[in-house]
Amino acid sequence: MQASLSLPAEGFRAEVRAWLAANVPARIRTPMPEAEIPWGGRTARFPAEETRTWLERMVARGWTAPHWPEAYGGAGLSAVETGILNEELAAIGARPALFSFGLWMLGPVLLEYASEEQKQRFLPPIARGEIRWCQGYSEPSAGSDLASLRMRAEDKGDHWLLNGQKIWTTYADQADWIFCLVRTDPDAPKHAGISFILVDLATPGVTIRPIRLISGSSPFCESFFDDVKVPKDHLVGPLNGGWEIAKKLLQYERQNVSAVGFGGDRSVTLPALAGRAGLTDEAGHIRDTALRDRIARQMMTERAIQLTTARAQLEVDAGQASAASSVIKYASAKANQHRHELAIEILGLEGLGWDGAPFAGDDLAETRKWLRSKGNSIEGGTSEINLDVIAKRVLGLPSR
Ligand SMILES: Cc1cc2nc3c(=O)[nH]c(=O)nc-3n(C[C@H](O)[C@H](O)[C@H](O)COP(=O)(O)OP(=O)(O)OC[C@H]3O[C@@H](n4cnc5c(N)ncnc54)[C@H](O)[C@@H]3O)c2cc1C
Repeated sequence: MQASLSLPAEGFRAEVRAWLAANVPARIRTPMPEAEIPWGGRTARFPAEETRTWLERMVARGWTAPHWPEAYGGAGLSAVETGILNEELAAIGARPALFSFGLWMLGPVLLEYASEEQKQRFLPPIARGEIRWCQGYSEPSAGSDLASLRMRAEDKGDHWLLNGQKIWTTYADQADWIFCLVRTDPDAPKHAGISFILVDLATPGVTIRPIRLISGSSPFCESFFDDVKVPKDHLVGPLNGGWEIAKKLLQYERQNVSAVGFGGDRSVTLPALAGRAGLTDEAGHIRDTALRDRIARQMMTERAIQLTTARAQLEVDAGQASAASSVIKYASAKANQHRHELAIEILGLEGLGWDGAPFAGDDLAETRKWLRSKGNSIEGGTSEINLDVIAKRVLGLPSR
């Protein structure tokens, strides 16, 4: 019985391994610097021809969204097959072919809530990396208390008319479309008057303004909507039924934001940093045993989170938003922040550089990454809010 179950899976593993051996370009097997992240989109930039080739080859196999049905640009793989594919990609250190909020957050909810017409229209371009999406949830007075959002979508008969503002919209200045939560019934209780809508950012009336951050690199924007006309069929799911979709998408977001390391570039490992800081002996061993112990603990924590995330990802690939998403998000945020604290400590005075000598060069990136990691306990729901979700929904503790 066991043999008949495992044989097809092992056959699939052999097929994947052979295909990867023949198709992964050399550059794709090297660590991916932040500047080379393949975000896709209408104005996609490829740092090298190999990154374009890699995306095209993965798209042709449906492996950018391996578990999505073939009709929507995926490969229709089972959860086990998707797991095998991910393991084989990880085993050779292959870079992702595509990074995308569309793949991680929007796609899964479209599969569950969108009409057949919407699935056929929006999912294949996501899988091919042709449209880059951003997330329009937060507003100036609606963050943790997201259901207080005020951006309006009024029914004007043949279109929706959008007015309002979103904030902290990551990469809105580089995205093509935005998925938004809007208020469609101002008289209903706050959770019951919200809908989920898709908006092309090229529509007249949309203004995007970048927000500058302390880290120097700013993914954030404010997004303004002034009398923006949106076609009626861009509303996903039931009218005023957006809150359920919003919550489901947040689960996917929490899971995926942790899985991809919070935007953190990990191309330089902690032991490598220690080497660069002159803390290793001739054999490459870290001389300070206390530091060695702390780095080993950090690496074990990261590995444990990685394996737990991979297990939860299998549940997601099987079409279930994992109940573990808040636990993973909370733990990953803490671990990532700790990693960057440790990195700065390892680099000593060099770790807190800014523009100009003697801090120019790669070490400067560590300063920026450390500052960026401060947002990990806020994005995708704050740590306090996630602890609350864990208490209520995972542990079943009563509200006070
Ligand atoms: C890096 C990053 C990327 C982001 N990207 C996006 C994006 O693309 N799209 C988008 O829509 N938003 C985005 N956000 C916004 C993010 O979702 C919000 O910042 C977050 O939900 C918190 O909302 P807030 O900033 O209004 O803080 P608030 O909700 O005002 O919270 C302030 C503090 O009060 C605490 N608090 C609030 N309510 C409670 C409670 N009930 N119990 C206990 N403590 C509480 C919070 O934990 C926090 O410490 C991003 C944020 C960051 C940092």
